[in-house]
Amino acid sequence: MSVFENLRQVFRSETPDHTYECKGCGKPFELQHQVCPSCGGFRVERVDWSDITN
Ligand SMILES: [Zn+2]
Repeated sequence: MSVFENLRQVFRSETPDHTYECKGCGKPFELQHQVCPSCGGFRVERVDWSDITN
């Protein structure tokens, strides 16, 4: 992971631009979806920002 990406993640933890993401394809969403519109997966889950920054 580059330094730039680290900084981006810090900023995102301050003001996250999405709350959910597909665990299948990684596509971010502001709202939760039952089915991912991108890949059709069922694993659209809430992003745990503290987990990412750790
Ligand atoms: Zn997906």
